[in-house]
Amino acid sequence: MPQTYTHTFDTPVYKGSVTINTGLFIGGQWVDPVDGGDRIDVIDPCTGKVITSVAAGTSKDVDIAVAAAEKAYKTSWGLKVPGSERGKLMAKLADLVEQHADELAALEALNGGKPFYMAKLGDIALVIKALRYYAGWADKIHGKTIETNESKMAYTRHEPYGVVGAITPWNAPLGSIGMKITPLLATGNVAVLKPSEFTPFTALYFANLINEAGFPPGTVNIINGYGNTVGGAIAMHPSIRAIGFTGSIVTGRKILKASAESNLKKVALELGGKSPAIIFDDADLEEVIKAASIALSSIIWASDKSSIDGTRFNNEQFVQGFKKIAEDLAAATGGPFEPGVQHGPQISSLQFERVMGYINSGKEEGAKVLIGGERHGDTGYFIKPTVFTDATADMKIIKEEIFGPVCSIVKFKTEEEVTEWANNTTYGLAAYVMTENVARAIRMASNIEAGTIWVNSGPVGDMGVPFGGYKQSGMGRELGQYALDAYTQVKAVHINIGQRL
Ligand code: NAD
Repeated sequence: MPQTYTHTFDTPVYKGSVTINTGLFIGGQWVDPVDGGDRIDVIDPCTGKVITSVAAGTSKDVDIAVAAAEKAYKTSWGLKVPGSERGKLMAKLADLVEQHADELAALEALNGGKPFYMAKLGDIALVIKALRYYAGWADKIHGKTIETNESKMAYTRHEPYGVVGAITPWNAPLGSIGMKITPLLATGNVAVLKPSEFTPFTALYFANLINEAGFPPGTVNIINGYGNTVGGAIAMHPSIRAIGFTGSIVTGRKILKASAESNLKKVALELGGKSPAIIFDDADLEEVIKAASIALSSIIWASDKSSIDGTRFNNEQFVQGFKKIAEDLAAATGGPFEPGVQHGPQISSLQFERVMGYINSGKEEGAKVLIGGERHGDTGYFIKPTVFTDATADMKIIKEEIFGPVCSIVKFKTEEEVTEWANNTTYGLAAYVMTENVARAIRMASNIEAGTIWVNSGPVGDMGVPFGGYKQSGMGRELGQYALDAYTQVKAVHINIGQRL
């Protein structure tokens, strides 16, 4: 019998008891792994101590989940169900997530150390918006009628793949799940989902809301587990026809390889980034300060494990303004349920060591620490927001994704130089350009090789606007109409209306 775990929160920002089931969610039921199986300890990143454990699935559980998903697809989802009905269930699920936003945010905060309010107003709000946005798309998945000649009528249908795999990371646990589940359900697919082994809590709570909303059993199946067992089994499965993945480039490559070696499943990848924030000195002081606060939002994102980190700036006044803002952020470092906290811990000891390794390499390679550069406190996996100056293009901290609260300030002289530099990377997720010169802003937006350019803006997305990477930062797009492409295949139908053959 699968176990449950109840956590009682008695914190300044949230009080209440939240229960999750820690088993596997297959065919709308909670089950144990078929092998009885191991359990995965879930660690509190603020203390390094075990909170509880969740069941660890294996490839056998993936097989069972795929069978449950196939059954749902053939009998009660997919093209059997009108888009308007799929949309109605998704809208109902959005309402339920909204009603339980506090519980979900509390679990996200407990599990990942993300400040409660950032989880509630960021991740959970994003999932609600995505469910509503794609609920609206569910009855608008149209093909085209194509003119050919007098004796033929041709049209296209945008059809679902069937069973789709979804594999997600730890930095935005429910947010990443929402970005995949919503377009795939709207287009009529069913899912076998593996959340990160570090952050399974919100996925497990979400499972009960899926049942409560009335989705047919098997529409969404959730298998906790490790990457190379459950993730690998999803990527290799011959009956999974498409896969949506968010995570590192290393794992993205493995998924592409598994797809090639199994059944050439369609693969959508959201991968790492090293996104420059380029601030020109044509901004006046007010603009510099504005740029600093924009960059602050990017460092917060970075510290909360986003793949968007501001890294390259110009202007001495900006450096001082940025230092002040980083100091304020350092003062707001702490546990996720403390009022006013804006910056939490790293997710694991492994990630803590990785980020500290980058900080040490920056020091060794000769960059200067403007602020931070060491751990924060002596428990858990906290790192002080760290800003380097005097960094150069050949340093590891400039070239590689750190995925932690670390920024480097690098000065540049010309637009050409900074453009070349911004593009001289294998990544291409996003870039920020701060300038009052409209022509320059438009030139930079054209010349930088990245999937998203934010001009005089922080990393503020919109449901209708696509997001995804150029180069090794990804394949395919999430959000907007573009995300529907990842989960639909086009069928062409030719109808002879002339003379019969
Ligand atoms: P990761 O690649 O280690 O893990 C991501 C997921 O893949 C986890 O669920 C993991 O268990 C699974 N996995 C690991 N090995 C696997 C395998 N062999 N086969 C199948 N699945 C496997 O990434 P992470 O450390 O969880 O997340 C951090 C990375 O995610 C960073 O590189 C970051 O840039 C990236 N990311 C990108 C975006 C974006 O929008 N582009 C958003 C968030 C995170």
